[in-house]
Amino acid sequence: MSKVATRVPILMFHSISEAGGPTSIAPATFEAMMTLLAESDYHVVSLQDVSSWHEGEKNLPEKSMAITFDDGFVDFREHAHPVLERLGFPSTLFVPTRKAGGKEDWYGGHDAKRPLLDWPDLQILDNALVDVAPHGRHHVALTSVDESQLREEIAGSKQDLEAQLNKTSTHFAPPYGQVNASALAEIDRHYELSVGVEHGVATRDSNIHDLPRLEMFYYQDLKRWQDFLDGKGGTYLALRRLLRAVRQRIKPVSYA
Ligand SMILES: [Zn+2]
Repeated sequence: MSKVATRVPILMFHSISEAGGPTSIAPATFEAMMTLLAESDYHVVSLQDVSSWHEGEKNLPEKSMAITFDDGFVDFREHAHPVLERLGFPSTLFVPTRKAGGKEDWYGGHDAKRPLLDWPDLQILDNALVDVAPHGRHHVALTSVDESQLREEIAGSKQDLEAQLNKTSTHFAPPYGQVNASALAEIDRHYELSVGVEHGVATRDSNIHDLPRLEMFYYQDLKRWQDFLDGKGGTYLALRRLLRAVRQRIKPVSYA
């Protein structure tokens, strides 16, 4: 019997553009990353597969990986989706539902506010290998809001997707990956699986409501990405240093 997965990397992307900064990866780099992935031993699976695997309901091939995008930038449609579609890779696109069709006007957004996909575009993408899923309503840190806002952001964004796309969402991503005990409890009430921003690889022991992901900004160095795909250990300390710098750029200041 072939080996089965004990750990599943979940890739985290934001914008695929030339915008620069910690939440952008250039289109050519993204395409090269995906091409190397396609040439590797990895199988790309959906978050639904990860959920079933985590629950012990199904096994996945030893080298399995899932792909996620946060925020729903228009550049996903232009630069990411054509590559994913050509390679047949499923992905999950987390969108702040009340910002659809607008811009990233939230804390930590890029200076030149990048446009976000609108509902007609999201409807088309959702039918084409992409699972559109909620990322809250207004892209606020869930640790900074009161209980009623918490429900609105977590349950409300699920209702928005049901209304707009006629689908039930079972996966969630809190903005900035920020959660506390009440946010986790509310997420647990409405979703099977939620992904965070802690850099790491998910195992069956990971919290299903705060799964670690791989910050793909770090793997723009394609040699480093190839090493990861080959299962070679990396320069973990350098990684941690870089991620700390990235996180300081994209996380909100502390809300006391
Ligand atoms: Zn976000």
